[in-house]
Amino acid sequence: FQPLYDIKKGRIVTCEALLRWPHRTRGLISPGEFIPIAEDVGLITTIGEQIIEHALNECASWPESVSVAVNLSPVQFTRGDIVTTIETALAKAGVAPSRLEVEITESALLNEIGAAIRILDRLNALGVKIALDDFGTGYSSLSYLQSLPLNKVKIDRGFLRNIEGDERSRTLMAGVARLSAELGLRVTVEGVETAEQLEALSANPNVDEIQGYLFCRPLPARDLRELLGGPKRLEVKAA
Ligand code: C2E
Ligand code: MG
Ligand code: MG
Repeated sequence: FQPLYDIKKGRIVTCEALLRWPHRTRGLISPGEFIPIAEDVGLITTIGEQIIEHALNECASWPESVSVAVNLSPVQFTRGDIVTTIETALAKAGVAPSRLEVEITESALLNEIGAAIRILDRLNALGVKIALDDFGTGYSSLSYLQSLPLNKVKIDRGFLRNIEGDERSRTLMAGVARLSAELGLRVTVEGVETAEQLEALSANPNVDEIQGYLFCRPLPARDLRELLGGPKRLEVKAA
């Protein structure tokens, strides 16, 4: 899990589930390597269900104010019944739908836009939040801002390139963030690695959250639980 940090509230608001395959001889294998294979061989539906269940169970052990984000694969829109999977997992974990955020990428939408919109509308009606991931890297992101029931965009880290020194890069980031914010969407910037990048982003009133190595690398579930303190420790602090 990797935290998303709200720079105005000054706290962690969401943690994104990032899958790892701990392999006996090859060490930690990254999702970039095995997710496409799991999609090809049809395993992603089963794995995807387990990810949702596991992520929601973890979320149940965090303070109420922290949500969980789960990446969805395009295949999950066309095979299986993702809405029922999510509804069942929410009920089983006892987590409010508003504490779940699903992240979709444009590639998830390209082929099956009709099916995707119907599913996202149903998730939205449940109260689940929807984020457009890697925003700005695809071909037609702007039309998705119009047609999808989105709550958030996650601006791809490509937009951070040269942001500390180059005026054009800053203008581009500012434009994308402003467009999203004016459409009523929350704005997360992904891949923040340096203090200079953070400084440039902090000056931008339209950026709500940052995610990146500067603030926190992805952590094993147990370490994250410790970092968040859990509901009990928060209560003690409040008292
Ligand atoms: P993503 O959803 O855009 O996740 C962000 C990726 O950026 C993660 O890579 C994260 O470790 C990495 N990252 C975070 N902060 C920084 C930073 O400051 N600098 C740099 N260079 N990278 C940073 P990861 O964990 O390797 O995941 C890669 C992609 O695999 C994810 O991109 C997501 O699309 C996919 N993925 C991960 N977990 C799942 C999953 O459970 N299901 C599905 N379907 N896809 C997943
Ligand atoms: Mg993501
Ligand atoms: Mg991303």
